[in-house]
Amino acid sequence: MLLMGNGRLITRDAANPFLADGCVAMDGNRIAAVGTTAEMKARYPRAEFVDARGGVIMPGLINAHGHLYSAFARGMAIRGYNPRGFLDILKGLWWTLDSHLLLGDTRLSADLTMMDCIENGVTTMFDHHASYGHIEGSLFAIADSAKEYGLRVSLCYEVSDRNGPEKMRAAVRENVDMLRAARADGSGMLSALFGLHAQFTLSDATLAYCREQAPEGAGFHIHVAEGIEDVYACLKEHGKRPVFRLQDFGILGENTLCGHCTHVSDAEMDMLKDTGSSVVHNPESNMGNAIGCPPALAMMRKGIRVGLGTDGYTNDMLESLKVAKLLHQHNLHDATAAWAEAPQMLFDNNAKLAGKAFGRELGVLRPGAAADVIALDYTPPTPMNADNLSGHVLFGMSGRQVIHTVIDGRVRMKDRELPGVDKQSVLARCREAAGAVWNRINA
Ligand SMILES: [Zn+2]
Repeated sequence: MLLMGNGRLITRDAANPFLADGCVAMDGNRIAAVGTTAEMKARYPRAEFVDARGGVIMPGLINAHGHLYSAFARGMAIRGYNPRGFLDILKGLWWTLDSHLLLGDTRLSADLTMMDCIENGVTTMFDHHASYGHIEGSLFAIADSAKEYGLRVSLCYEVSDRNGPEKMRAAVRENVDMLRAARADGSGMLSALFGLHAQFTLSDATLAYCREQAPEGAGFHIHVAEGIEDVYACLKEHGKRPVFRLQDFGILGENTLCGHCTHVSDAEMDMLKDTGSSVVHNPESNMGNAIGCPPALAMMRKGIRVGLGTDGYTNDMLESLKVAKLLHQHNLHDATAAWAEAPQMLFDNNAKLAGKAFGRELGVLRPGAAADVIALDYTPPTPMNADNLSGHVLFGMSGRQVIHTVIDGRVRMKDRELPGVDKQSVLARCREAAGAVWNRINA
């Protein structure tokens, strides 16, 4: 038994949303009970006690769309790179980086991201991977990293025609192999989707091939209408808009994640809704790429499940939450916008997405749910209660305040130390490998 207590407890359980002095009792990888610290200590006197020291305890955070392969881009300069738009950023930066990543680089990028996630209280991540420098086994290298660090991950490989037919087929094989491995895994820690880059780098033949190769029931994870260029290319080459083209190839559905959906029409939103597809909003990435603001709130009003991701921009979901709210307020010229919707994306919809993907109850602290629990060093300077939690989270908390991270009942960070991890050594190896990647790119 493991207890995390002596904190203000945010459960995300509507029946019991907040305890001023709360404690979570974990039995193995499940939550056994939630109550006051005194109650839990009395009921489980021999349990190991992790002290939140009067801070805030809440469910582990979930990132619904990330790219751990982007970790080596920090500080990178590419000779001749002078982007004038979104396509230039994709081609000049991201496709250049991923086409130079070898297997060891993928593994170290994963290690770096896993550490950063744990330090930010992120316990589950949906990754979208590309490493066209070395495809085969790359998802398995990431899965090994996730196993070592203890993160819950959904993996996929982004299939694209951009590197020719042989690499396209290798990427498809990698997806299929990982989908089979995840289904056989049974730990509740590994899940998989069939990754696709974006429709504008996928021919009709490739989309049909992916549909045919995808195991029965597999969902897809794809960027949809992220930039307006995706829409123009689809209209020009296929005479239809992206969501309709994906529907024609059987890509949409209950298990499919559509990243961004920045430039979708009303009819495309209806199609997303009718097929039960989910959308993942990535506010910081969209702002950084200057591609526009997705109609995330309109999609939610239609009943589409919109989750929150980072697209590799950060691993701090609380930062992403803040920016999601600000982006929609700014874009809509409406100071009242997104107060409810941004927390709903992160705390409700991501929990539903992850619950479906992992077959476990995630993102909530109640008996039976997965034992993914974090504590933050946050003492409220104003009254805090069940009705004003969002105000405290939005204005008072960030990932860097996370002090303890428990995933699947195991302590993965305590007092900001990761047990068994030599962080400085991992960082040193990452700096060396990233420098080598940069040299290969600029050679
Ligand atoms: Zn992305």
